[in-house]
Amino acid sequence: MTEDALRTAVRELMPRAKTDLTELVSYRSVYDARQFPVEECLKAAQWVADAFAAEGLTDVGLHETPDGSNAVIARYPAPPGAPTVMLYCHYDVQPPLGDDAWKTPVWELTEKDGRWYGRGSADCKGNIVTHLTALRALRKVVGDKYPVGLTLVAEGSEEQGTGGLERFVPDNVELLRSDTLLICDCGNFAVGVPTFTQTLRGNVNVLVTIETLEGPMHSGMFGGPAPDALAALIHVLASLRDAEGNTTVDGLPNDQKWDGVQYPPEQFRADANILDGVDIVGGGTVSDMVWARPALTVLGMDVPPVVGSSAAIQPRARARLNLRIPPGVEPQDALKALTAHLESHTPWHAKVTIETEATGSPFRAATDGPARKAMAAAFAASYGREATTEGQGGSIPLCNVFADIYPNAEIMLMGVEEPKCLIHAPNESVDPSEIEHMALAEALFLASYAK
Ligand SMILES: [Zn+2]
Repeated sequence: MTEDALRTAVRELMPRAKTDLTELVSYRSVYDARQFPVEECLKAAQWVADAFAAEGLTDVGLHETPDGSNAVIARYPAPPGAPTVMLYCHYDVQPPLGDDAWKTPVWELTEKDGRWYGRGSADCKGNIVTHLTALRALRKVVGDKYPVGLTLVAEGSEEQGTGGLERFVPDNVELLRSDTLLICDCGNFAVGVPTFTQTLRGNVNVLVTIETLEGPMHSGMFGGPAPDALAALIHVLASLRDAEGNTTVDGLPNDQKWDGVQYPPEQFRADANILDGVDIVGGGTVSDMVWARPALTVLGMDVPPVVGSSAAIQPRARARLNLRIPPGVEPQDALKALTAHLESHTPWHAKVTIETEATGSPFRAATDGPARKAMAAAFAASYGREATTEGQGGSIPLCNVFADIYPNAEIMLMGVEEPKCLIHAPNESVDPSEIEHMALAEALFLASYAK
């Protein structure tokens, strides 16, 4: 039957997947001309374009996005009545972040203890190779004609946060139109555990400035009755967490529960590099705290540094705040609540100014559509176990753009980037079994979703 044939085909294609990934990793495709030549990105883009053209995709081309990078886009027209599936990935990578910290050559795919090391081996070139392997297996088993329409999108500046593709999508709605979007820039909860990344938190960034005096005043002569701007700021910031460490913004719920996979505290402790003896904070489970509830972080403060500080009361102090918000909370509501909280907790009628830096919406994937059902079945068949769900504490603004523009499309976040991959860090690697299982799941999905 097709399932066994696809399984065999994917397995036989794994040596080719390794060869392909070796070539892809050799391109130093960091989209930052100050660090790496632009040609490296262009070579990687051209490689991706050629590879998908070779698998029968049409209208293959490099499309310049508003930030100057190139997205590789290719299509396969849907057979009559069949849906169209977007295969998303990105070919740009993070810089090495210290060549010295790498135990293998950064740009040379190197096998060690069963994993393949190199920058981009997982994020996201491993997902490019997964797409290719799935398509090749389908061609081998089902024939030259794909059962669904395809839209390949390989972004060229995802790691830079310059929003090139986000700004490109609204002007190219028809070019990219798809019924289901596979956003393959995520990963399983652990190797061998098929996982949908179900939610992403949004964020609200503000600058809060407190002013109390015309200028700095001697802390001996005036300390006591003089209103200290830094003390006022400390007072305000302290009101944003309770003793347990829960984020406490007035009017913002902070007791949500995560209903998918539970993040074991020991694993979180290790992943987050928490010092021995120091607590994990908050009243919920780790999954509740990191995926389902708001979290406020003070990103920076303008206060006198210790060296060079004098015996003076500060007239002015400033902090940059980052509030992560879970699905179910609108950024505008969170901003309003945070602003009101900061104003009402500022003591002594000190002057407080709040400036909004940025806001981003949280994201929640739909779970009840036909594509999701087909993918859950494909995951189960490929991995031999049912899929679970996790969240992601950070944001992928592109998902919100897609959700706004294609409101009826099913969006699924998945991929080969499980935690051991150490994406964005030195010594990034991928587990080839994840490429194999994900490619099989994708092939099974494309075969079954057509019906
Ligand atoms: Zn990525």
